[in-house]
Amino acid sequence: MKYSSHLILCFAAASIAFGQADPTSRSWNQPVPPFRIAGNLYYVGAVEIASFLITTPKGHFVIDGGFVETAPQIERNIAQLGFKLADVKILLSSHAHFDHAGGLAELKLKTGAKLIASTRDAELLRSGGHGDFRFGDTLAFPPVEVDQVIGDGESIALGDQKLVAWLTPGHTKGNTTWTTKINDGSSSYDVVFAGSPTALDYQLIGKESYPGIAADFEKTFAVLKRLPCDIFLSDHGSFFSFEEKRKRLTRGETPNPFIDPAGYKRFVIEHEKEFRQKVEAQKKAAASPAPKPE
Ligand SMILES: [Zn+2]
Repeated sequence: MKYSSHLILCFAAASIAFGQADPTSRSWNQPVPPFRIAGNLYYVGAVEIASFLITTPKGHFVIDGGFVETAPQIERNIAQLGFKLADVKILLSSHAHFDHAGGLAELKLKTGAKLIASTRDAELLRSGGHGDFRFGDTLAFPPVEVDQVIGDGESIALGDQKLVAWLTPGHTKGNTTWTTKINDGSSSYDVVFAGSPTALDYQLIGKESYPGIAADFEKTFAVLKRLPCDIFLSDHGSFFSFEEKRKRLTRGETPNPFIDPAGYKRFVIEHEKEFRQKVEAQKKAAASPAPKPE
């Protein structure tokens, strides 16, 4: 999930049924044709809700399952690219919110793949979003069993392809940024799949939304700033100007518009600034409590 303005909509919609019943979510889930980003890395998600396929001769990775309603799109997209669902061996998650984890249960069922997630998000994936520190039980999704937990800086490999998990907590307690290297022709690229770094309407000072949330965000920005990045990707298309870059790539633009180290740096700086502004605003509000009526 991304915008605070979207919160109320989500509450209303997701408490009625799993998934994307409101217009904003539906607009985020519009299909786009799957395509190759670079080398063995493909886009298989919807227009705003991202999902990625990394193929290897030993089986494939899929990062994120979208909404419940995105899963069939992801399945079709994988097939359309000429790959077999049964060859997907590992499912990964950016974070356990209903717009990215909603489709994981179905994808797991259809592929037979192993789901790997961070310890703190594994809990939320298994509960289907129940007990979220901010949303309680209101943004539920189909629960999905996590087969293996992964720690900070640990990696998972299929053949020669290695993906590294970097814990970037705050947006969820176990929010994860994945990195890998993708070879394309004679070039090799550092790829970052940045987990959402947004603080939504969370309480970041005083009685924090969860104990340690502000320190978690501090850690997240320190980590994101450290990661080398050529190809910049994230869980929301708008974070990395997905539609614009997709159209430019489709037109055959070179160099590949997804190679965007400057865009990645901007993304991190802007989100850190937004986080600090939220902290400052909350400090100000706490220092000047509303006057008591006389
Ligand atoms: Zn989210």
